[in-house]
This record gives sequence, C-alpha cells and structure tokens, in this order.
Amino acid sequence: MAKARKSDTGLHPETLMMSHGYDPFLSEGAVKPPVFLTSTFAFKNAEDGAAFFSAMREKDAKQGGLIYSRFNHPNLQIAEERLALYEQGEAAAVFSSGMSAIATTIISLVGSGEVILRSQPLYGGTETLITNSLQSLGIKTASFVDGLDIDSMHSAATEAMTLGPVAMIFVETPSNPTNTLIDFELINRIADQIAAQQSKRPLIVCDNTLLGPVFQSPLVHGVDISLYSLTKYIGGHSDLVAGAAIGRKDLIDSVRSARSAFGTHLDPHSCWMIGRSLETVALRMERATENARKVARYLASHPRIKKLHHPEYVDNAHYRATYEKQCSGPGSTFSFELVGARDTAFEFLNKLNVFKLAVSLGGTESLICHPRSTTHSAVSATLLDGLEISEALVRTSIGIEHADDLIADLDHALRD
Ligand code: PLP
Repeated sequence: MAKARKSDTGLHPETLMMSHGYDPFLSEGAVKPPVFLTSTFAFKNAEDGAAFFSAMREKDAKQGGLIYSRFNHPNLQIAEERLALYEQGEAAAVFSSGMSAIATTIISLVGSGEVILRSQPLYGGTETLITNSLQSLGIKTASFVDGLDIDSMHSAATEAMTLGPVAMIFVETPSNPTNTLIDFELINRIADQIAAQQSKRPLIVCDNTLLGPVFQSPLVHGVDISLYSLTKYIGGHSDLVAGAAIGRKDLIDSVRSARSAFGTHLDPHSCWMIGRSLETVALRMERATENARKVARYLASHPRIKKLHHPEYVDNAHYRATYEKQCSGPGSTFSFELVGARDTAFEFLNKLNVFKLAVSLGGTESLICHPRSTTHSAVSATLLDGLEISEALVRTSIGIEHADDLIADLDHALRD
C-alpha cells in the first residue's frame, strides 16, 4: 500500500485530486473543469496587458493574469497545481512530453561548459539526449552505474569535476528497465562533497516516472526536481504524451521561462486528461502493482527464467534497505531475462496474446517489449552488456487486467 500522507488542508492527495486547483463557480458550477480551447486571453484594458507581461517577467504570479496559451492556460494550471500537491513540491511545470520536460529542465539549469553527473541505466531517450544532443551545446557528462556504492559514485564525481563545474546530478530510480536503485541519502552526500570543492551545490534531479507519485517522493529525500513522463502511470491509459517537472518554486520558475521560450508546454485537452487521470492514479497503480506481484511470483520459480529484476526479488541487503527507506511499493514495471538469446526472447514475445507487444509503460493494459532492440537500441552494446540489458531480457509493464489471464498468457508462451 502507498504511505498515507496528508496535505496542509488535512486531506489526502487521493481526495484532493478531485477538486484541487479548480473552483466550479468560476465555470457555471461545472463539477469538472471545462477544456479551455483558446490560444489567447482578452485583457480588460491596455494597463492589464502591460501589468500581466510585467508580472510574467518578474515571475510574480499574484499580480499576473492569463496572456497566451504557450505561457499558461487554465487546464495547464489545474494539472500543475494537482501534480505539485501530490509530489509535495512547491510548483510544477507540465510539458508536451517526458522528453521535453527533461530537455527543457536540463537546458534551463545547465550551461555550456558545465557537467551533468548521471546514473546508468537511464531511459534510452534520456541517455541519447545527454550523451549526444547536449554535447553539441557544450554540456559534458560523467556517469556511475552502482547507485548504492558511495565509492564508485565518489570516483564518478571526481571525474566529473575534472571536466568542469558539476551543475546537475541526474538519476533515474528505479531505473528503466532493470529497476536498479539510487540511494537518495548517498547521492545527497555526493552533492555535498562536490559542493565543498566548487562554488555551487549541484542540483539533484530524479526521473520519478516508474514509482511516483504513489510509491516514491524524491523531493522528501533531498531531491531538487522530480521529473516525469506523464505518458506513463499518471496519464495511465496509453492515450496521451506529456511530461512534468516538480520542485522548488525558484527552480520551476526558471524551467517555466525556458518552456515559454521553447514552446514545450502541453495543450488544454491533454492537460484536462492529465487532471482526469490523476483522480484514479492511486487506484490504478495499486491494482497494477498487486497484479505485478502475482506475475513476478509466477516467473520467479519458472525454469526458463534466468533472472527477475523485480524490486522484491533482488537479493542484496543494501538494495532492500534502500527500497524500504525510499519506496512504499514496487510498482508494476520490471524486466526478466530468459534462458537463451535474442531468438528465445522473440519467440516468447511472439506467442503472447493478452500482453500487447509495445514500448511504453504504465497503461491500464499490460505491455511487453525487448529493450535491446527497441527502447535502448540507440545505446552502445558495450554499455548495455555492462548494465545487464542482454539480448534475452524482456521488460513488462503490468496493467489492471485479471492477473490469472496474464499468468495464463505467459505460461502458454513459455511452453516449449
Ligand atoms: N523517462 C522514462 C523513465 C521513460 O520510460 C520515458 C519513456 O519511455 C521517458 C522518460 C520519456 O517520456 P516521453 O515518451 O513521454 O517523452
């Protein structure tokens, strides 16, 4: 079960997702917010227009007003207020995709000549963004693999500092696709060590797509910004693409300014869908997690499964202690390695009927894919080998179907 948590109002996020940030009496009493399909907003007079632009430049929301939908719009505002509340952050910014959230956040907070220290593995798209696209902007990078080992993180930090000032530590925990963990306490210690040797403490940024907001709250553990692909569990129905950055107001204000400049905001209809989906995210994640536990139990004893990367089956005391400390549930995305190679994995995948063969995760339906040839195909083979992303590895995201049907489908596909 997710940990019980109350907001300043004394109400739980599950309750507030139905109402927070929206006043029905500003919209004819409509219980659900309308979709504000407008690109621009009328000023009452020319003075208001000037004042709203001035407030936007000064980042003073109290004096401001709605101007133009690339900067802000009512559906964006509702989605952001609800996400900030659930994630326990001061402010949130919503984006047109998880990648635009990640790219806009990095570009607005890391300058040319500065360094990102990152964990591996990361989602393949993030890995490619950091190692390829950002290099041409002069952003450098160093990496570490074991987020539970302070010595290897320290060595990576030392290497990062030889490249230039370290502006950001970027982590993904649990990681996609192998569910490795980064210990938030250790990563804060690394940030302190870096701060002692350069003028500024690096920002800690965490991709919280796999467990948040129901099973993990990085901001409570000293992380500065929590990032999301909202396309996954929060959108939750595999019918939209969106992203978010949540954290301290001053940081999110900078990220928002970059979003306005780049135009990486989310449209009103998709924002409305995010608001709708936030109402059921806890229900969906809890049910999917229970299903995933049943599926993992079945796979754990199957002779054709070589290794199961489900958080509750990792045989490592530091991993278990970290998991207990910072996660309140394992979620429903995990990977497993079959005995064999790529052809074994493909043969197994091709026999499935209930599972959909597709990339992405966090939808109501169960999905399964072969990371090495799909989500992580742009990552170097040597790196993938070192990260246990083998040719026989498959990743699944378990949905909310009846667990028995999922197990029967796997059982059929695993028969010789
Ligand atoms: N972060 C993680 C962990 C992901 O799995 C993904 C997509 O699969 C992304 C970020 C990128 O999100 P999007 O596809 O919404 O751009």
